[in-house]
Amino acid sequence: MIIIKTPKEIEILREGGHRLAAILEKVVKMVKPGISSQELDEYAFTLIREGGDEAAFLNYKPDGASYPYPASLCVSVNNEIVHGIPKKNVILKEGDIVSLDCGLKHKGLFTDHAVTVAVGEINKEDQKLLDITKESLAIGINEARSGNTTGDIGFAIEQFIKPFKYGIVREMSGHGVGRAIHEEPYVPNFGKRGKGAKLVSGMVIAIEPMVNLGGDDIIFDDDGYTIRTRDGKKSAHFEHTILITDGEPEILTKM
Ligand code: MG
Ligand code: MG
Repeated sequence: MIIIKTPKEIEILREGGHRLAAILEKVVKMVKPGISSQELDEYAFTLIREGGDEAAFLNYKPDGASYPYPASLCVSVNNEIVHGIPKKNVILKEGDIVSLDCGLKHKGLFTDHAVTVAVGEINKEDQKLLDITKESLAIGINEARSGNTTGDIGFAIEQFIKPFKYGIVREMSGHGVGRAIHEEPYVPNFGKRGKGAKLVSGMVIAIEPMVNLGGDDIIFDDDGYTIRTRDGKKSAHFEHTILITDGEPEILTKM
């Protein structure tokens, strides 16, 4: 069932999204060669708790998972696409790219936000992957309007990415968000105009293109969470939580 949020819920989600954007921006500033993914996670957890909120991913058990997710942040490095588990022995190094994905529960309601950033200096090819993936999110958001469909969002993202010959991850998608971290509808990063769920004012969705330098095949690590590219090429991921309105889409996860 697709949940239309009440004005009161929207106010809370707006505040939660604002807090989450501020937290992720602080975590991004900590990214540098030599820091571990676990240190980034601990910092995110501390910031969330200082604000009196809860880390939405910590102890979240998705359908089919054998154990709950053990961290507040997903830290996915280079060929890891999403859901990388922070570890003491994962040390970021110059030239890496790293996706930081975080969920926040503020006054009982959830927002979801991710960025991929450079560790020190990165090569031009990787910078272009980051720029294009970030732009594809903006293009998807522009379609998140009352009267459009989830297919319009996916179509716009896919058509934008296609000329660059990047792989679009198909197994994972954006999603409704708010009362739970994952709600209906499913918001894929590919699709057909006019297909999928109809967007209505008051819906809140996370849009999150995952784009690979190489092909679109993925593999799961033995830890049951980390998803990486099968060909070992790098991957980027950007995500915002968006409110559908009768006018312009509103990005909730912004400063
Ligand atoms: Mg996320
Ligand atoms: Mg998400």
